[in-house]
Amino acid sequence: GPITTDMQTLTQEIDKFARDKKIEIETLKVREEYRKEFLGNISHELKTPLFTVQGYILTLLDGAMNDKNIREKYLERASKGIERLGYIVKDLDMITKLEVGDLSLNLEVFNIVELVRNVFDMLEMKAAKKRITLIFDTDYANPIMVKADKERIQQVLVNLIVNSIKYGNENGTTEVSIENLIKNKVIVRVTDNGEGIEKRYLPRIFERFFRVDKSGSRKEGGSGLGLAIVKHIIEAHDERIYVESELNVGSEFSFTLEKAK
Ligand code: ADP
Repeated sequence: GPITTDMQTLTQEIDKFARDKKIEIETLKVREEYRKEFLGNISHELKTPLFTVQGYILTLLDGAMNDKNIREKYLERASKGIERLGYIVKDLDMITKLEVGDLSLNLEVFNIVELVRNVFDMLEMKAAKKRITLIFDTDYANPIMVKADKERIQQVLVNLIVNSIKYGNENGTTEVSIENLIKNKVIVRVTDNGEGIEKRYLPRIFERFFRVDKSGSRKEGGSGLGLAIVKHIIEAHDERIYVESELNVGSEFSFTLEKAK
């Protein structure tokens, strides 16, 4: 009769309630783990340059500052360490804002060709230090107008091109190209012929703090956040990012953008 049905409904509801609560608690647990891991990673990332800086300063105080050459060298290195700390803090700030969803996009119509040129100008010196040639591989007499957050897309380009220089070979190349896709989209590709990435690591490289070779990458500096930031920015635009790479051959990162009508 109706009483049994009610009892059944009630039992089902209690079950559902318990199930939901359990899932909620599990979600909270996962989040708590995530938060702990994040904080652990942050302190680890900050510790390395902090100890380096402290080491140089202590050595100076210990008497090394009496030698002018050593003094200059150590102060320069300490300064580099502090500069690196600054970059890491800036990246952390950015990733936190992106993950909390605190960063609203400032959409505007701009010429992506011009933006690539500007980023090339910014990074030319860095590339030259490794004798890497920056190539803009298309006929770009005509502007290509896109609708996106210009400042953020600039950061995407900077992060990808800086990586291609960091993980590129001496005398190598970094090539950027822009191609029309169907349906009012363009695809921007950043290709290098550097060290490449082993297939098994490809699914993980967009994770924050993930690095293929901890020691090797550390030598190159960086926070391990560059690609996580790139992915967040592209996804915030509702666009896609792709990577193709082969060990000792090179890598290609590409992302889509909306063309302005
Ligand atoms: P990082 O600060 O270590 O460069 P990223 O998030 O920018 O952090 O990159 C994560 C990892 O992905 C790098 O440590 C490196 O191992 C790998 N990687 C990124 N870009 C490239 C590239 N162009 N060529 C080879 N490996 C790359």
